[in-house]
Amino acid sequence: MPRMFAFTLFLWNLAHTAIASDALILKHYEVNAQNLAELYQQFHSQPELSGKEVLTSKRLANALKNAGCEVHEGIGGHGVVGVLKNGKGRVLMIRADMDALPLIEKTGLAYASKVQVRDDNGNLVGVMHACGHDINITCLAGVASVLGKMKDQWQGTILLVGQPAEETGRGARAMLVDGLFTKFPKPDLALALHCDGRFPSGFPSGHVNYRAGPMQANVDSVEIIIKGKGGHGAFPDKAIDPIVIAARVVRDLQFIISRERDPLDPAVITVGSIHGGTKHNIIPAEVKLELTVRTVRTASRINILSAIERVAQAASLGAGAPEPVVRLNASEFTPELINDVELTTKTVKVFESLLGKDKVHERPMSLGGEDFSQFVRAGVPGFYYFLGSADPKAVAIAKQGGNPLAVTHSDSYFPDYATVIKTGVRTMGAAVLFHLADK
Ligand SMILES: [Zn+2]
Ligand SMILES: [Zn+2]
Repeated sequence: MPRMFAFTLFLWNLAHTAIASDALILKHYEVNAQNLAELYQQFHSQPELSGKEVLTSKRLANALKNAGCEVHEGIGGHGVVGVLKNGKGRVLMIRADMDALPLIEKTGLAYASKVQVRDDNGNLVGVMHACGHDINITCLAGVASVLGKMKDQWQGTILLVGQPAEETGRGARAMLVDGLFTKFPKPDLALALHCDGRFPSGFPSGHVNYRAGPMQANVDSVEIIIKGKGGHGAFPDKAIDPIVIAARVVRDLQFIISRERDPLDPAVITVGSIHGGTKHNIIPAEVKLELTVRTVRTASRINILSAIERVAQAASLGAGAPEPVVRLNASEFTPELINDVELTTKTVKVFESLLGKDKVHERPMSLGGEDFSQFVRAGVPGFYYFLGSADPKAVAIAKQGGNPLAVTHSDSYFPDYATVIKTGVRTMGAAVLFHLADK
């Protein structure tokens, strides 16, 4: 068969199969749509912080049981693993993250969260699903339900994974350490979807976006303690002022990016927190800085982390201060997320035949972080994609200069949930059927 003809036939078969299975997915989805909407609102109104997903994981476990999964709870903290077995074949993992963020919700929605809790530092904080993880887990439950009813369309094993603590970068690692790939069969491939809320460049609900290859950055957390010598604010000559040294460090850190790095190799150093002192007329003994560091290459990561230490030491040395403490928080490291190119290309073709090419978009790389990368790093080819999440009417208004759309991680963000969940179940369901079809 001529090559060109064979490829055209492959695409035709793909489109034909995808459309036929899409009709069935939609039929099963529609029966369950009201339940999923209620489940979503329950997840949304009762969010839980990273590592504290007690109620959320229980609720997800019940939904997976109802879909016919064998369910295992308490994996790596509050992680949940639902197993759908259907004879011999490949093992496919779908991962959804479950945790919420410490924000007081200001969406004004009828089902808005009113939850407040004490965080690990004892501060009273609001709790809100501001990253759309409530969408991700609702889609997981929806996909489980649909695929549980379509066992004549696929074969193999599906692992449906509810992951805790994505926002702290700890959950995926904790599940792996607790035996996700040893207590359960190691997947041949892993898929994940995430609600997208990057506006104004984001997409409306009903659209998806993706990137083949490197997609998200290495994320490191670094703590610097600048040590000085405390004293009276009126007598700086009798003290060593760590606040002035800290100010110098904050400035010099930016020179690493602008003067030491290849401008074509993106990296970010952000000082997200700076604390020192108690009162206007006391020079404190120390100042603490907390940094997030984003890089896309291992060599750059190593260079930048060592440059941070050098800059902090140089500032302290220059001021005649004691050596600063520079600590890398290794337990919060999230490696770069790299989508498997072949897996991405094939799955995107399925999406295009399902939604139309005009609703499937390639996106640029981002310096955001995502610990789905831990599963890829553990040797499983992965594909992670985003679901456009804003009401198309609101997007149109925003584009004409009207009300701007709230972004994820803000207290006013909310997705156009019914369409987003439907798109999530359709695309993920079709992707699984494609990869687990009897070939
Ligand atoms: Zn987030
Ligand atoms: Zn997220």
